Formats: sequence, structure tokens, C-alpha cells
Amino acid sequence: MDFKYNDEQLAVQSMVRDFVAKEITPNAKQWDIDEKFPDDVWKKMGDLGIIGTAIPEEYEGSGMDYLSHAIVAEELGYGCSSMRGSYSVNISLVAKTILKWGTEEQKQKYVPPIALGQSFGCYGLTEPDSGSNAAGMKSIAEKDGDYYVLSGNKMWITHADVSDVSLVLAKTDKDKGPKGITAFLVEKGTPGFTAQPIHEKIGLRAQDTGELIMDGARVHKDQMLGPEGKGFAVAMSALDNARFTVSAGCIGTAQSALDISKTYAKERIQFGKPIAGHQLVQQLIANMVVDIEMGRMLVWRAGELKNQGVPNTRETCMAKYFCGEMVNRVVYNAMQVLGGYSFSGEYPLERMYRDSRINTLYEGTSQIQQLIIGNSELGIPAFV
Ligand SMILES: Cc1cc2nc3c(=O)[nH]c(=O)nc-3n(C[C@H](O)[C@H](O)[C@H](O)COP(=O)(O)OP(=O)(O)OC[C@H]3O[C@@H](n4cnc5c(N)ncnc54)[C@H](O)[C@@H]3O)c2cc1C
Repeated sequence: MDFKYNDEQLAVQSMVRDFVAKEITPNAKQWDIDEKFPDDVWKKMGDLGIIGTAIPEEYEGSGMDYLSHAIVAEELGYGCSSMRGSYSVNISLVAKTILKWGTEEQKQKYVPPIALGQSFGCYGLTEPDSGSNAAGMKSIAEKDGDYYVLSGNKMWITHADVSDVSLVLAKTDKDKGPKGITAFLVEKGTPGFTAQPIHEKIGLRAQDTGELIMDGARVHKDQMLGPEGKGFAVAMSALDNARFTVSAGCIGTAQSALDISKTYAKERIQFGKPIAGHQLVQQLIANMVVDIEMGRMLVWRAGELKNQGVPNTRETCMAKYFCGEMVNRVVYNAMQVLGGYSFSGEYPLERMYRDSRINTLYEGTSQIQQLIIGNSELGIPAFV
């Protein structure tokens, strides 16, 4: 067991950290206010190879491992959760899923532009009436010769409105439950395939979220991702990847909240001394440090299993469950350290507080992670 990053991983960390400090952290507040995703910064990240860190070299990536993937997510989470979210969706949910399930033609067509920051992908699983119970989706794909005709709505989809390629799940056989679901890659501009943005979110305001509307969208059978009827497995493998980078992003945000707290605690004087010298403030700091370290170790373990290519759903869900709750605790504690000042836009904690809330909700709620972990311990599914 080695708790150190290797030289390659350290180089990625240093490069991304430097980029985040210069290009992301100073601007994240304004992007949040404007509800505007910084396309120019994203393109720079693509040029520098940050987006494609964990994509194989033959698809215009850097071919690095899962720990490097987590490092990028952590560093982005330190500066801006909206940027981290876009990284997770483009790389973890879309590009890596196409790499795992796609034909060579699909990989060549869709993955390189995403890795280079020239194209956006989205992942459409959730619907207005099915979230946790994803297999309860109503969207259908009816076969018509060499085509499938897609109908239904997808709700809360990150990048819905800006995606060049959408990975959507629909039922090709309504009577077969999860085994009747199939994945499709739908291109922007396909007739009958539109998006509607969702505004006034609590957090992740710099990131596009919307609804996908499929109203008789015809897609060729070559746009199927993976075999017919294997869509649920495709969807779950995507979540295995995305939960990993969500967890790593939580660590970055929590680390940022801790760093702000430490600086403030050493400067703020109350009762004649810096508040850092008051025992209960040290208790808050100590709790934050331990929380962050525990989360980081869970991410490392899941990443190591992913590097080995062995099943890791249980470990990834443990990381997602812990880190999603942890970042909310840590940001809450950081706000205690800063007192009333944390409640204003003067410090980024108010944005972190809003942005962090999503992490116990999406990619499966904390309760759903607990059910997956419970099932793996007991061998008894509690979903039905
Ligand atoms: C900003 C944002 C971005 C998102 N991005 C995407 C995206 O890109 N793609 C995508 O497909 N989806 C996306 N989602 C959707 C997200 O993954 C879902 O909201 C999430 O899975 C929960 O589904 P739900 O909201 O329908 O809640 P529900 O499933 O209705 O759950 C409501 C509550 O019931 C609980 N519950 C449900 N079933 C059980 C059970 N069996 N046992 C115990 N408790 C249960 C849940 O834990 C939760 O507490 C996004 C959501 C948001 C808010």
C-alpha cells in the first residue's frame, strides 16, 4: 500500500492546480452570478489536455489512470463545482461510456472532440416521473426498419441544451423491465429532439441543466450504444464512473472550504486572540480535516480498483455516499468558523454551500447509495 502519488500524477496535480488558481477560482463567482458557462476557459482546458487526462491517447487523450482522473476532478472542485460537473458529465458519463460500449466508429467520432473540449455530451436517464427508479422510465424507442423512433422526456439533464451528442436511455421492450432498455447516441439537430433549459437552480448555476424532449426523433440503428436490451447496464456503468469524479470533486470543494477557514481563523481576533486559538474552533477544523482525509482514502481505493479493472460499484458508492454528505458537513463547519462573514458573497463559502447540496441528490441520492451498499453486504435488494 502506497499513499503517495507518482511523478506523473504529481505533474497533473501541479498543472491543473495552477490552471484552476489562475483561470477558474478568481472567476467562479461571476460565472455563478451570470449563470454562464465559461466556454473560453473550457477550450483552454481542452488545449492543455486537462479534459482528456483519463482518455486513451488514440482518442486524443493523455492516457492516464483513474487516480489522475480523480486529481483533475478534485482540483476543479476546489475552484468551481460547475466546471467539475461538466468534467464529470463529459468524461465520466459520456466519453468513458462510449469507450466501454461503443463501436470503433462511435469512439472515433464522439470521443476525441469531447477530450479536446470542442464538443459537449450529455446523459439522459432521469425523467419527470422516474429518478431513483430509473428502470421505471416511460421513454420508448419503437423500431421502424433500420431506425428507432424515440419519444419521451428526460428531466434535469446536465448540458441538455448545449450537447452535440446525447446518450439517452429508452425502452425498446416495455414488458421486460430493465432488460427492455436500450442506449442511443442522439446528435444535436435530429428532428424531433429538442431541449429546454432549467433556470433558478440553488447551485451549479454556471452549468447548463435542462429537459430533453423526444417527440418522434428518428435515429439509425447504428446510433445504438451497446446491444439492444443492455441499456440499463450501460447506464449503471456510466454512473460507476461519474460517482467517482463526483466524490473527488467533493474533496476539492471541502479542501477549499478548509483552507479558507484556516486562513480566516488565524486572522480573526476575538476575546483578544486569533479564533484559531479557541478550542472549539480547533475542533471544527479537526473535524473538517478528518472528514476530508477519510473521503480521499475512499476515492483512492475506488480509483485503485478501477485501475485494476476489477468490480468496484460497492467501493465507488461508499465514496459517493461519504463524500456527498461530507462536503456538506465541511462547508457547514467552515461557515461556523467564518461566522456572519460566511453569509455574504465576500467569501466563496456561500456558493460552495449552495453548490455542495447537489452531491447527496444526483448520480443516485445518498439513500440509493446506502441501498446499493446494503445489498452488497446482505445479498438482499431493498429496491423492490
Ligand atoms: C442539477 C442536477 C443535475 C442533474 N443531472 C443529471 C444528468 O445529467 N442526467 C440524468 O439522467 N439525471 C440528472 N439529474 C437527476 C438526478 O440524478 C435525480 O434527481 C436523482 O437521481 C434523484 O431522482 P429524483 O429527483 O427523481 O428523486 P426521487 O427518486 O423521486 O427520490 C425522492 C426521495 O425518495 C427517496 N427514495 C426513492 N426511492 C427510494 C427507495 N427505494 N428507498 C429509499 N428511499 C428512496 C430518495 O432517496 C429521495 O430521498 C440531475 C439532477 C439535478 C438536480
